Amino acid sequence: MSVCARCKKVVDKVYRCTNCGIDFCKDCGVPRNSLCTFCMSYKVEEETWEEEEW
Ligand SMILES: [Zn+2]
Ligand SMILES: [Zn+2]
Repeated sequence: MSVCARCKKVVDKVYRCTNCGIDFCKDCGVPRNSLCTFCMSYKVEEETWEEEEW
């Protein structure tokens, strides 16, 4: 049993975020990308900045 660092729920399995290193459950991130929801939104913001070339 593990505890999700985002929602504090006890779940069967947690995943390690490769960006911030926290353990998150499948509801708090994307296991396939190994990113928590916080780092997901952070990445999206970065992409928005890169598009600003006008
Ligand atoms: Zn969670
Ligand atoms: Zn993260």
